[in-house]
Amino acid sequence: MMTSAEYFASLDDGRSIYFEGAHIEDLPGHPILGPAVAVVARCYDYFHSRNGESPLMTIARSSADLKARLPLLHHADLVAHVTYQSIMTLTTAAGRIGDARYAERVAKFVRYVQDRDLRVTECITDAKGDRSLPPGKQKDPDAYTRVVERRSDGVVIRGAKLHISGAALGHELMVIPTKAMKPGEEAYAIACAVPVNTPGVKIVNTSYAPRHKDARDFPISAKNNCPEGFVIFEDVFVPQERIFLDGEVQHAAVFAHSLGLWERLGGLSFLADEADQLVGFAQLIAEANGLARESHIREKISEMIIHATLVRAALEAAISNCSFGPDGAAYPDELFTNAGKYHGAANYNLMVRHLHDIAGGSVLTAPAIADLENNEVGPLVRKYMAGADGVDGEYRMRLFHAIRDLTADAYGGWKFVTNIQAGGGLYAQRIVTRRHYDLEGAKKKALAVAGMLDAQH
Ligand SMILES: Cc1cc2nc3c(=O)[nH]c(=O)nc-3n(C[C@H](O)[C@H](O)[C@H](O)COP(=O)(O)OP(=O)(O)OC[C@H]3O[C@@H](n4cnc5c(N)ncnc54)[C@H](O)[C@@H]3O)c2cc1C
Repeated sequence: MMTSAEYFASLDDGRSIYFEGAHIEDLPGHPILGPAVAVVARCYDYFHSRNGESPLMTIARSSADLKARLPLLHHADLVAHVTYQSIMTLTTAAGRIGDARYAERVAKFVRYVQDRDLRVTECITDAKGDRSLPPGKQKDPDAYTRVVERRSDGVVIRGAKLHISGAALGHELMVIPTKAMKPGEEAYAIACAVPVNTPGVKIVNTSYAPRHKDARDFPISAKNNCPEGFVIFEDVFVPQERIFLDGEVQHAAVFAHSLGLWERLGGLSFLADEADQLVGFAQLIAEANGLARESHIREKISEMIIHATLVRAALEAAISNCSFGPDGAAYPDELFTNAGKYHGAANYNLMVRHLHDIAGGSVLTAPAIADLENNEVGPLVRKYMAGADGVDGEYRMRLFHAIRDLTADAYGGWKFVTNIQAGGGLYAQRIVTRRHYDLEGAKKKALAVAGMLDAQH
């Protein structure tokens, strides 16, 4: 397994990384991206210190295995998390496609990643141009990533994958089609693995990491941020052994469906924890404000508790009703995963509304922690920020800073959008939920209760 020092060294591989107009030469030393690199590095040391293989790099084979990974996933950084999802996606997709040649290449690539303890990021979302048109009818044929040249030893790809979490911090890019493809769209049915430092790969980053000097006012996002990459493939060569699909349009959607499943399970498990955190902050700030016994506050917190409990119930159901691929790999139940992720994400903003409603305006306007250290205003800020009897001003201020950071600042905005869009957006979760729900069974139940089973046609 890699240590943090080896991880830092591994990033010095000639990769082309950009941030806000500049080419980045020293990624670990960069003022915005560097701290995110350090988060990934700390996770390498954490797994290294456990003396053995990281369970996130191995295939889950039972419901208990899937469940045991959850606390580890929450402890792990985002890049380790998407590596786990990438390994599971490729394994799930290879099993579903059932082509021995591709299955062998996938297994070989997964072993390569496991043996070297590499990080893999998920490149699925294409630029997509005019959303109403399929890939082959776009004015710019590169709007979806495609094969532009075939060689005896591999293919050359061109295109861009957008919003890729942690792309610049990983070692390998798992490139897969973003949607189903039709006959005539063979060039777009390409799945492969590309090392980040391959000539022609360029990654333009964005980050919600706090830009303030004093991290104490950003207690969550200062420790927990990861850039998204706008990954450009400018005529990138991919050798045969790294190609997992090439032109078989009938299988293009299998990758998107497999990734969607694992991304949504990850999203659901985070939404379950986030829902508990929102409940916790709502109760803590209500107590600090002296309003925890007010009936309208209690009602809102009860509603938040019900939401948190149902999201967790969906997660439990998704895992305990897991299915198994031909090689014994366990994967979560599609219906519970998608319905749970949808419900958690669609109601997240309402839960944040309750929290903001309960907390009050100091979510935005609580003075900085450094103001407490000013001899003139510090004692006054502490005095006037005090709340219910015995609640110190600094304690209340720190709660407000945590709530703002989590829900009302750059990281909070990132969470709002990410909860809706990650894993393919709410629309995709509605489609998959509907596909796996027993609609015929529901119709039968309705007819039965109406005494109309005989009238069925
Ligand atoms: C913070 C963050 C991290 C992400 N991480 C990753 C990642 O690691 N890897 C990755 O591959 N992707 C990632 N994504 C991308 C995410 O999966 C997409 O944002 C999502 O799939 C929506 O695609 P889009 O952004 O292109 O929006 P669009 O596809 O433009 O969707 C916008 C709206 O238009 C609707 N729409 C789009 N096309 C049609 C159509 N043809 N007909 C009807 N309605 C349509 C959609 O349903 C949606 O309501 C990430 C996104 C975010 C915000």
